[in-house]
Amino acid sequence: MRIEEHLTLDVDAVDFSVDLSNVVRNRALPGDRPADLRRFLGLIRAVVRYTRDDSAQVYAVADGSLLSLPALTAQERSTLHRWRSEGLIQVRNVADDRLLELADLAGLPVISDDKFLDTYRTYPWIAGSRDRFFRAVAGPDEGGVRLEPRTMPIPPDWQISRKEEESRLLAVGMYDRRHGTGARRQLLTRQWRCPEDDCPIFGAGATASQPPPMFRNGTVRCPTHQRQLADIGPKPAQKQLKLRVDGVVKARFMLVAGTATVLGRAPTGPGVALAREWLDETAHGRISRDHVELTWDGARVTVRDLSRNGTWIRHDRASGPGRPLPSGRRLPTDRTAWTLRAGEVVVLCDGVELVASGRTYVFDTERPTAPVPRDALAAEAAEATVFERPAGP
Ligand SMILES: [Zn+2]
Repeated sequence: MRIEEHLTLDVDAVDFSVDLSNVVRNRALPGDRPADLRRFLGLIRAVVRYTRDDSAQVYAVADGSLLSLPALTAQERSTLHRWRSEGLIQVRNVADDRLLELADLAGLPVISDDKFLDTYRTYPWIAGSRDRFFRAVAGPDEGGVRLEPRTMPIPPDWQISRKEEESRLLAVGMYDRRHGTGARRQLLTRQWRCPEDDCPIFGAGATASQPPPMFRNGTVRCPTHQRQLADIGPKPAQKQLKLRVDGVVKARFMLVAGTATVLGRAPTGPGVALAREWLDETAHGRISRDHVELTWDGARVTVRDLSRNGTWIRHDRASGPGRPLPSGRRLPTDRTAWTLRAGEVVVLCDGVELVASGRTYVFDTERPTAPVPRDALAAEAAEATVFERPAGP
């Protein structure tokens, strides 16, 4: 396994964000030294197994001290420096803030065993979260590391009134009275330039796709240099989907904003052909040459069924190895478009599915230009601050 193939700062392609230092220094994981880069290699293997995707990718954030940590070997330190200069990992003074910012902006699930308690005020969705945080634990698997979902604790003062919480959110700049969170999400649709020319991520020579910028006190800043970034225009918009067959990811492909993409056994026009070796006899027989059409408009994915045998939509929540799939809703046969919502999966036939890559809440993104009425804003603020009650009798 070449570990570099699993590192990216492209949020459209990534499956998890990872607190690199937290994993490397985790003494509960295999390794005799206080810090050991092999723990991170073990974690990457764990991510590949967990996602059942050989091409799974992580967005790794390290705190700056890791790169000069004496507990690492000279070779490990130079590997980290190389990764940073190649734009494969991000280095910050404090990794936590960046991980939560990515989770908030792009919905990336976070791998860390940090409690994040001091950040609940800024990110109220953390309290009680059951699907956005994971930790690396010692496991019997190859590499000795396993990925485990976490349920985030709910702070004792979870009953604070909505009104009170809303004003706190307004005070820290989480809600813009005119645009709500929409204004912040819009940052993801732009390309940025750092005044530091040699900036590995936002510099003039940086060609890799850009990670989201940092947003502090109303300005957009470089996460590496803390300097204000210049908006250099809209980001070429694309959305990544995965093809999953019997729970295993077989391929990824991109939807380009405004262009319809047809998927099937052998699309008659431009589109994505499902390779014969991915499908068993039954699936191959049930999938049409032009099976389904997907369109991304920059904010939402719509699906139209073009097939002979049908296309279904189901919620991904109840899926998992060994668990039966819930039955879904069949798409209309008159080719009416269906707008995918958060967590929905497109089922081409039993076991053959399309899922959004990485970002759990990818379909939640509001249209960036739509004005939000005040009532809706207040409702949104209220909704975002409802803490889940602890499970109890
Ligand atoms: Zn910079």
